[in-house]
Amino acid sequence: MTPSKTTLPASVDHLVIGAGFAGLGTAIKLAEAGEDDFLVIEKDGGIGGTWRVNTYPGAACDVPSQLYSFSFAPNPNWSMSFSPQPEIEAYLVGLAQKSGTLDRFAFDTEVTDARWDETDQRWHVTTSRGEIAAKTLISGSGGLSVPKMPDIDGIETFQGEVFHSARWNHDVDLTGKRVAVIGTGASSIQIVPTIQPDVEHLDVYQRTAPYVIPRNEHRYSGVEQLLFKSVPGLQWALRTGIYWARELYVPGFVWKPALAAPAKKLALGNIAKGIKDHGLRAKVTPDYQIGCKRILISNTYYPALAADNVELVTDSIVKVTGDAIVTADGVERPIDVLIVATGFQTTEQPIAEHIRGRDGASLSEIWASQGMASYKGTTTRGFPNLFQVVGANTGLAHTSMIVMIEAQLAYIVDALKTMRAEGVGAMEPQQAAQDEWNDDIQRRMQRTVWNTGGCSSWYLDAHGKNVTLWPRATFTFRRLLSSFDAKNYDLEPARIIEGANA
Ligand code: NAP
Repeated sequence: MTPSKTTLPASVDHLVIGAGFAGLGTAIKLAEAGEDDFLVIEKDGGIGGTWRVNTYPGAACDVPSQLYSFSFAPNPNWSMSFSPQPEIEAYLVGLAQKSGTLDRFAFDTEVTDARWDETDQRWHVTTSRGEIAAKTLISGSGGLSVPKMPDIDGIETFQGEVFHSARWNHDVDLTGKRVAVIGTGASSIQIVPTIQPDVEHLDVYQRTAPYVIPRNEHRYSGVEQLLFKSVPGLQWALRTGIYWARELYVPGFVWKPALAAPAKKLALGNIAKGIKDHGLRAKVTPDYQIGCKRILISNTYYPALAADNVELVTDSIVKVTGDAIVTADGVERPIDVLIVATGFQTTEQPIAEHIRGRDGASLSEIWASQGMASYKGTTTRGFPNLFQVVGANTGLAHTSMIVMIEAQLAYIVDALKTMRAEGVGAMEPQQAAQDEWNDDIQRRMQRTVWNTGGCSSWYLDAHGKNVTLWPRATFTFRRLLSSFDAKNYDLEPARIIEGANA
């Protein structure tokens, strides 16, 4: 069991929100930089973030393990080339324990309000367990943390078990049950083949067909694990190879979608291999350009759809009754259990409504009109000393988020160093710098497959603006965030003498 702080300090230098990859990485990097006065608060009961919460059957990463881990903490013990969820959670817990920072984590502690106070240059944060003041607020609260329930007529009247993929109810035994899964995204395509052999009948409700390419899965042998442990640089070499192979996707996404033709061929080949029935093949064949939505990986999804006890339903859902789902063609399909794998609230950070800046407006109020926008996806005009890890336009469709997180952590630590060295009490990006950054992103976005590929996706917000993804190579992001660019910030001298913080 992970220890947790039982009483919260009244004030800290740095308050970190979230104990997933971003929050834990922040804690480790702050400690490394000698910024020891910090507290990480987490609304759940332990370390892991999304990898603690998403425990649905079949949950695994679709980025190879060596790259889906911190560069400073390679793990020779991965069992598979794509790590299963329990191993990633265990990796993070183990790393937290080794890091020596766990004494500064408080679990079951949720932020309800955070306000910037100009007079004392502090964030005043209200949590479910008390108030904390902090010089800086660093949010690693995650982009995919609040499940999105579908707005389907009558869903609340369903008498059987109903739960979201990210809130899996392990008390429900699916064996011999009639089950429906709504959604065919990254979560669903892992759930469907895992539960299909156990259920009596499975209806999979597809609104838009995803592209699913083969999963080149490899179970590491004991010898390979031993080599990872004992040969210096081997894991690093593998990580580097995977990194560059993944970056090859970028031109096809952001420049010339035609370059993604080989991936499309793989996806169509995967359908042909997994499904014999031509009617079903047609139903699962996407009608938009590959890459427009996230490309999924699975060897088992199509064979599962083709199994005798599975029906892929493409007629739209009109309502849910007490014991069935009714589609537009009038067909009523009775079920015992309803699983909604309909994704997350993505185009606005869930934490945004709780964070109020210099003028008292919340991030979400400011973003309501213009869409989510920050400087370097990290700092935001009007919100002094606020850093967001995995902020606006830092998401990726092709590779590991850990690469982006580490780039942001380097930037944040350098910013803190500058603040300390220069006696800065408050800093925020200049409006012009923030606008230029976002205009450039949106200009680059115009030709990307995400904007032009003929699909709707969670990458785009209500205004049709892509506020989630980074439209360039990740090494470019890393370069642009390699050092803190004080010249693009308004810096205010510290009003309170160091040491008089309490
Ligand atoms: P998602 O990709 O957003 O997929 C949601 C699915 O639900 C889509 O098929 C969507 O259809 C459908 N849907 C949503 N609302 C609906 C409604 N009202 N009626 C019918 N269908 C509806 O969500 P997710 O699968 O949970 O994945 C979210 C993200 O989490 C992924 O893109 C990925 O970044 C991450 N993830 C990663 C992994 C991994 O590494 N292996 C696994 C799971 C999740 P439309 O396509 O028509 O909108």
